[in-house]
Amino acid sequence: MTKPRSLMKYTSNKERQMIPLSVPNIKGNEWTYIKECLDTEWVSSAGPFVDRFEADICHRIGSRYAVACVNGSAALHIALETAGVTERDEVILPTVTFIASVNAVRYMRAEPVFMDCDSYFNIHPEKTAEFIRKETEFRRGVSFNKSTGKRIAALLPVHVFGNAVELEELVGLCAERNITVIEDAAESLGTFYQRGSLTGKSTGTVGQIGCLSFNGNKIITTGGGGMLVTDDEKIAEKARYLTTQAKDDPVRSIHHHIGYNFRLTNIQAALGVAQLERLSDHLTVKKNNFDFYGKEIAAIPGLSLADTPDYADNNHWMYALLIDEKTYGRDRESLMRFLTDNHIQSRPLWMLNHLQKPYAGCRTYRIEKALDLYDRTLNIPCSVNLTEEDREYVVEMLKKGRVAKS
Ligand SMILES: *Cc1c(COP(=O)(O)O)cnc(C)c1O
Repeated sequence: MTKPRSLMKYTSNKERQMIPLSVPNIKGNEWTYIKECLDTEWVSSAGPFVDRFEADICHRIGSRYAVACVNGSAALHIALETAGVTERDEVILPTVTFIASVNAVRYMRAEPVFMDCDSYFNIHPEKTAEFIRKETEFRRGVSFNKSTGKRIAALLPVHVFGNAVELEELVGLCAERNITVIEDAAESLGTFYQRGSLTGKSTGTVGQIGCLSFNGNKIITTGGGGMLVTDDEKIAEKARYLTTQAKDDPVRSIHHHIGYNFRLTNIQAALGVAQLERLSDHLTVKKNNFDFYGKEIAAIPGLSLADTPDYADNNHWMYALLIDEKTYGRDRESLMRFLTDNHIQSRPLWMLNHLQKPYAGCRTYRIEKALDLYDRTLNIPCSVNLTEEDREYVVEMLKKGRVAKS
């Protein structure tokens, strides 16, 4: 690329750089803190930034304990293990999620039971409650799936695209039924409830355990990284033990359990501390872009921006476009191709997990809405780096992409 970006408006589309879906924004103290790691030679998984990052996350989201992990997938894995999920158990979770949530269930050799989603792409709260009430029975303090006889060990709600799951009723029901709630809050750092009994609570702190991710595409990043958060001291201790090779006697190398090398490094944590300082700025940018897209896209016949739930202050991590094919004149696949041809990266919803090859035979419960949303959802560029010119260009192309009936 030989031209400055500001001139690109006036050049042919062929020379345009692709506007990516979601990329990191490294504009704060990252260099300073990482240099500190290198200067002091504290580069591995012990070091002051690991502790500081955990403390900062606790402070930010209002959780008592935090255990930094190599990534969000590892945090989910450890969450399920510390919750005591085994190969004899089932875990309730949504079909609409990144596959990492489901894989974690299988790492424990447990069985997923897939639920439908609501209009915010989140696990359907009423249907899930209905499943627990009608399809499980509660005997001697344990919930069993009536049709399989297996224990329902956990509910794993995912705050999809940063939208808070409507958990108010479900947390109460799960407490009554002794089902552990493990939140996948990988996409929702910064989101908190603003109505009802959960008011003021951040996503990830409602259930017994929450899992965060700091992957490159998330609202803040450590390159790769994750965090397990909990208010339960025993869970935190066990998570810390399991993520550091389960050392019972670190000097003599005695281990009573099979552990993992899942700790975050000091360098990554340094990146995380700097990124977390910028979270509030990132949230402001995400919200501004969401408002801009929402207003502009509402004026395009056949397109709308998916709404976010008003019972929470959502982080607007990812923007979901909803396509009405009849009015817009293109389906999701065709619009995705059109945007790619015009140098805009977009992504459909994840393949529904109950249809993924490894999970095709698993149990499902009344999945309807997810099928519809799968067909007509397309995510559009949402990076914090998005310039005004970028977002105007995206809107311009969405307008241009419409195939009006002649
Ligand atoms: C990103 C993500 C994960 C996995 O996190 P990694 O840090 O990439 O391992 C899990 N669940 C959801 C919903 C995610 O978006």
